[in-house]
Amino acid sequence: MDENARGAAQEQTTVFPCQGCGGQMMYDTASQTLKCRYCGSERQVEDGTEQAPVEYELDFNDEDKASMKDWGAEQQVIKCGNCSGEMLLPANQTAAVCAFCGSPKVLSQGNPGSIRPESVIPFHVSREQAAQAFNAWRKKKWFIPNAFKKGSVSSNLNGIYVPFWTFDTNTDSSYRAEVGVYHYRMETRTRVVNGKTETYTEQVRYTVWHWTSGTYRQFFNDVLIPASGQYDSKLLHKLNDFKLNQLTPYKPEYLSGFIAERYSVSLPAGWEEAKSRVDAELQSEIRSGISGDEVRFLSIDTRYFDQTYKHILLPIWNANYLYQSKTYRYMVNGETGSVTGRVPRSGWKIAAFVLVCLVLLGVIGFIIAQQQSNDSVMPVGEAAKVSAKIKLQA
Ligand SMILES: [Zn+2]
Ligand SMILES: [Zn+2]
Repeated sequence: MDENARGAAQEQTTVFPCQGCGGQMMYDTASQTLKCRYCGSERQVEDGTEQAPVEYELDFNDEDKASMKDWGAEQQVIKCGNCSGEMLLPANQTAAVCAFCGSPKVLSQGNPGSIRPESVIPFHVSREQAAQAFNAWRKKKWFIPNAFKKGSVSSNLNGIYVPFWTFDTNTDSSYRAEVGVYHYRMETRTRVVNGKTETYTEQVRYTVWHWTSGTYRQFFNDVLIPASGQYDSKLLHKLNDFKLNQLTPYKPEYLSGFIAERYSVSLPAGWEEAKSRVDAELQSEIRSGISGDEVRFLSIDTRYFDQTYKHILLPIWNANYLYQSKTYRYMVNGETGSVTGRVPRSGWKIAAFVLVCLVLLGVIGFIIAQQQSNDSVMPVGEAAKVSAKIKLQA
């Protein structure tokens, strides 16, 4: 069986038939073409790289518009009864197991009515390359059991397109803040030296506050918001070396042999998240643009306009593996091959490491304590000799 034919998706009828033999064509990472699993013939995916992706005017009603939900091939949503993950598959394919957690408790929920992606980064890393990347990565991990390090790991890798939103927006802000400016003055003081009172002068800093206000305009481009319900953003963040300039207009061909995760962060929720990131950025830009030594009570009123959005899909290999009857997950960036995930830990290796650390701390503490007691009773020369000796021993 071809590498892309394994995994959760099992097609029943042909979506992209081969012109030679009528067999199912799948997206091939090595040639970046559609490739027939039976006779190996290839078909170029109509290249849209010269075409700039469309940025849609932000309209929360888009989820109700049929034109925005046309994926080019009819989609159905498959929901997992175990982890409640939602996968999108062509309507004529079925899933045997959940691509996220491996559970067989999956059920078709019919047409999802999701906004179709505007652009994707196609998979460049093959299933085999992803498995190799994981193997190289796990062997470099600390505190893993020897058996895990030497043994092989069998895992079922699923190629998943993970959903994101990107937003553009223009902003027009007016702000008000209180600004503190440092001033200095010389003050005359008195002190007692050797029983005599004397006066001296000292420079003292004081802050003068005044209110300021102004306007600030800024354009924000491609604010990237994860829309996945399956991956916590921390884990995804570790794989975040996607090259967004490699985005290419969506074609249903790219999804052949892969699974798309249905976005679970809605368009309005995604925009709220984008706005809070934009607001945080505006805060720091406006604050640093105000001249003065201190800024307080900064209040900003922002108007957003010319907002646009794109729904994009980014490629990730997802896998679960068993080690001593416990399940672990790892993920590989389908574009760059970088890896993140969980590995089993060796209890005694961690214990041994902690023990060695404690012993080292004890030794260092002992040396310091000895040195201090030596310092207090010994003449300076003797103490220097002792510390020199300790340095030699170290
Ligand atoms: Zn063929
Ligand atoms: Zn699941």
